[in-house]
Amino acid sequence: MALIVHKYGGTSMGSTERIKNVAKRVAKWHDAGYQIIVVPSAMSGETNRIIGLAKEIMAEPDPRELDMIASTGEQVSVGLLSMALQAIGKKAVSYAGWQVPIKTDSAYTKARISSIDDVKVKADLAEGKIVIITGFQGVDDLGNITTLGRGGSDTSAVAIAAAMKAQECLIYTDVDGVYTTDPRVVSEARRLNTVTFEEMLEMASLGSKVLQIRSVEFAGNYRMPTRVLSSLTDPLMPLAEEIVSGTLISFEEDTNMEQATITGIAFNRDEAKLTVFGVPDKPGIAYQILGPVADANIEVDMIIQNQSVEGKTDFTFTVPRADYNKAMEVLNASVKAHIGAGSIIGDAKVSKVSVVGVGMRSHVGIASQMFRTLSEEGINIQMISTSEIKISVLIDEKYMELAVRALHKAFGLEAA
Ligand code: ADP
Ligand code: ASP
Ligand code: MG
Repeated sequence: MALIVHKYGGTSMGSTERIKNVAKRVAKWHDAGYQIIVVPSAMSGETNRIIGLAKEIMAEPDPRELDMIASTGEQVSVGLLSMALQAIGKKAVSYAGWQVPIKTDSAYTKARISSIDDVKVKADLAEGKIVIITGFQGVDDLGNITTLGRGGSDTSAVAIAAAMKAQECLIYTDVDGVYTTDPRVVSEARRLNTVTFEEMLEMASLGSKVLQIRSVEFAGNYRMPTRVLSSLTDPLMPLAEEIVSGTLISFEEDTNMEQATITGIAFNRDEAKLTVFGVPDKPGIAYQILGPVADANIEVDMIIQNQSVEGKTDFTFTVPRADYNKAMEVLNASVKAHIGAGSIIGDAKVSKVSVVGVGMRSHVGIASQMFRTLSEEGINIQMISTSEIKISVLIDEKYMELAVRALHKAFGLEAA
């Protein structure tokens, strides 16, 4: 019997009414002969509420204790969904991550899954039970509860699908698929029937939070067919219709090659930029600046080093906005003490906008079209970075939505 994994996000689990609808949808799939594992998120707003409570107690909550409480939202969800299924006559059982167990490393708040045991779950499925497993959480080797980073239930679902050798992983959310850009920012955004794995990986890493990036990595590593679709449709809609709805992440390059050069526009509001002026231009400088930043566990994204003038250069890089203050402290301490640079300035009000598409490989002129479009809108580009299938620019955050809309139009991505 084929196994399918369903994942339901926070909005989809947002009320007991919605949870009853999830149960109806899951029961419909089970009735059609599939074995089903469901991976729900916490009810919408719940994880934020819990983290808010922690911050009322401690400005920088202890990560282990934070995971202890942040993981509880999902525990409520699995129990409620199991009851909703039992209430309509289905056999169902819920598990927290540690009960499966879903083993992770000990990097609290951003743990990585190392293994998932299938014994107990497979036995339940064989007995005709629907198995419901908490998203977002796991357990380390010492028995501590860990969480996988915000949006991590996507990753739990795809990893569970891979470990249990599911036929497909269905990510049910509050939009009906992956769009050319966030449909909440550009109302003309168009739903994609398929998106290549590589494009989805870029879009997720560049800020399209419809899927957590690690879930896309798992899908790619295990070639797990993964589909994004809506949980807000009629739960009893015909299965044949539902099964082909939404957006399929495809591993076939050529499905998109015939389409537009650009597949989508991604953006990330939460960037910050730091510049060190007057750095001596000599070997080892980049390492001396960025080494302490990495040691502080801060991820660096875009980097620019200018041409040197009289043996001195300027060095600019970006970090997640949440790490801005910490990065500034680290820079002030290490750079001034060891490198003797002139001054450090920062800007925590910058955003990154990126155009993504595998078609870029075979087309020239994408960058110039992007830069022309931004210049016509009077938007100044602060930094640029490129890969084979994306071009990203850093701009003032106040122009972000304008830039996304203008680029969406310029590349002809609107709905027909
Ligand atoms: P869930 O709670 O189901 O995990 P998320 O809020 O994490 O849902 O992700 C769904 C949201 O992702 C959508 O509501 C949409 O605003 C946003 N989003 C961002 N970029 C895109 C995109 N390219 N296509 C579809 N949705 C996107
Ligand atoms: N509940 C977690 C969060 O809000 C995980 C998830 O929803 O995927 O980030
Ligand atoms: Mg999500």
